[in-house]
Amino acid sequence: MRQAGKVVAGAKAAVAQAIKPGITTRELDRIAEEEIRKQGAVPAFKGLYGFPATVCTSINEEIVHGIPGDRAVKNGDILSVDFGAIVGGFYADSAFTIGVGVISPEAQALIDATHEALQKGIEQVKEGARIGDISAAVQAYAEHKGYGVVRQYVGHGIGRALHEEPQVPNYGTPGRGPLLKTGMAIAIEPMLNVGTWKTRQLDDGWTVVTEDGALSAHFEDTVGITENGVEVFTESERNN
Ligand code: MG
Ligand code: MG
Repeated sequence: MRQAGKVVAGAKAAVAQAIKPGITTRELDRIAEEEIRKQGAVPAFKGLYGFPATVCTSINEEIVHGIPGDRAVKNGDILSVDFGAIVGGFYADSAFTIGVGVISPEAQALIDATHEALQKGIEQVKEGARIGDISAAVQAYAEHKGYGVVRQYVGHGIGRALHEEPQVPNYGTPGRGPLLKTGMAIAIEPMLNVGTWKTRQLDDGWTVVTEDGALSAHFEDTVGITENGVEVFTESERNN
């Protein structure tokens, strides 16, 4: 998983560097796929549940699961990119949101808070903690900042499959839920909205958007509890 995480981190860096006004999401998908295959890994999303691409690209009010295509990002957009890779049968999963060109202070604040919400969740990971500790930490931070926390889509266990038990919601109660133990790996992935937490799926059967059309951001890391402590396998991309 450590190796899969490194591959994903490399793909995130390559895509982040390429994001600029005018580039299409399909082109970013191609860069991600090339980078993942160059490392001898396999894109984890392509073909999974029928998804047609290497990354999910979600723009502005799109939350997750957007399909790369001919749409070009433009100055002022925010773009979420979600990556997965498989090495030796093990999965890693990670996402970031980034501003395209010059973005509004409102959009930047949302991105910063979503990144910080993920850190608040990661800080809770340790042997003997509960999933609810992570969930509550993410929710408390997000709601303190005034954002809606998406409920319908959640983080997850990860290992020999992309999505394993347990679910890792971004809302919950401290001290509740499954126990965290050495040897476990989970993907923590807060999705924060400027407005309502409610979501809607587009007719393409994939893209999830905010019900009210307000901006949404998404950060995700794959985190493991190893013999040596807590390890973030997919270091978060942050260059804005
Ligand atoms: Mg993901
Ligand atoms: Mg995930």
